[in-house]
Amino acid sequence: MFIDIVTIYVKAGNGGNGAIAFHREKYVPNGGPDGGDGGRGGNIVFRVDEGSNTLLAFRYRRKFIAENGEDGKGRKFHGKSGADTIITVPPGTLIKDPETGKIIFDMSRDREYIACHGGRGGWGNRHFATPTRQIPRFAKSGAKGEEKELRLELKMLADVGLLGFPSVGKSSLLARVSAARPKIADYHFTTLSPNLGVVSLGGEGRGFVMADIPGLIEGASEGLGLGHAFLRHVDRCRLLLHLVDISASEARDPIEDMKTIDRELERYSPDLAKRPQIAVANKGDLLAPESDNAARFRAYCESIGREVYFISCATGEGIDTLMDAVGKKLDTLPPITEYESEITPEDEATAGVGCGIETTVRQVNRTFYVEGRWLENFMGQINFDDYESLGFFQRVLKKNGVFDLLRAKGIQEGDTVNIYDFEFDYVP
Ligand code: GDP
Ligand code: MG
Repeated sequence: MFIDIVTIYVKAGNGGNGAIAFHREKYVPNGGPDGGDGGRGGNIVFRVDEGSNTLLAFRYRRKFIAENGEDGKGRKFHGKSGADTIITVPPGTLIKDPETGKIIFDMSRDREYIACHGGRGGWGNRHFATPTRQIPRFAKSGAKGEEKELRLELKMLADVGLLGFPSVGKSSLLARVSAARPKIADYHFTTLSPNLGVVSLGGEGRGFVMADIPGLIEGASEGLGLGHAFLRHVDRCRLLLHLVDISASEARDPIEDMKTIDRELERYSPDLAKRPQIAVANKGDLLAPESDNAARFRAYCESIGREVYFISCATGEGIDTLMDAVGKKLDTLPPITEYESEITPEDEATAGVGCGIETTVRQVNRTFYVEGRWLENFMGQINFDDYESLGFFQRVLKKNGVFDLLRAKGIQEGDTVNIYDFEFDYVP
């Protein structure tokens, strides 16, 4: 079973509550407030695990919740922070917003990404003592940790991708040139998970990574379509090796096969269709002497401007020459694609579990209470003591139509806006 797309639920820990406590000591009457702060909630952190290449681990576990911060205690004791929850993913995993499909983060190389921040701990009552308020009997509750749904999508990191109908010899080629041991078989539907192999070209760590992906068209006969889903795995490849069975041992025509796959590529992604390709005619050992397949295939490849190499994975013929050519070609090509985030900070701040950006406003006298799932999430991220953070707060409210809504409800200058206990005066 191969899993390369999953949707998971993640939630950071809540901040602990601040404590209400008063200093007590023998012979010291009326000690001051000494309630400590709550601890921060744990974050949800994604980390790359170089050793894995499927999202199978998520088949049985789709919920990840980080630890809450502990509540503060008397004697100015801070609550302990909650531990982070680390989620490991294979290199090349894209973290996406399931609703919009936008890329949030590309987990390539050894990068780390904090997907949900733990809620801040609430302040203990000792912070609230003022000359006129010597006995503060309140403290702040901790902020909620962010929660989200995220889609994980694996797009492997490989320099070279193998394309071709089932049984043309893709897995055989990978096994020949690398230490990878993909399944090789006479029957179709063999490759159900992508295999990566490192091909070394001898000397100074020169080499590249080649991927044998679940074959295009495998599963087509079962109504699974032509395997578009699998093409995702060659999206990042710098070069494609397009294999055909030149002996036509399964009574198919190599030129027709190549045309079919080129059409599929074009349909899936015009960008991918333009990726540099080298044609590889395999199973040369089985080619009947009287066949004109080789000549016809060479002529066709020339007509579309595609380099062509003849090999046999059975005898090894032509393979060194092909790998040399691949190495030289790669030297001229740009590096493996890494995706930029498509998410703006404003998008990110208000992303939450199925919350959209629905907002409601409730009026009590001259106070307007603004509520919404997204806001609850969002408020925990704003530092109201910081000018930039406040500017950001303002922009997000505006972008999500909060001010329009307030105006529609008839708010007037000087009225109070209350968003989850944060209050400010409305200024048009
Ligand atoms: P894939 O589906 O493209 O990965 O194809 P496989 O690598 O699994 O190969 C399918 C079958 O073709 C297996 O039985 C291989 O042993 C056989 N095969 C692959 N390459 C050659 C070749 O060059 N010559 C011969 N005679 N058989 C080959
Ligand atoms: Mg295979």
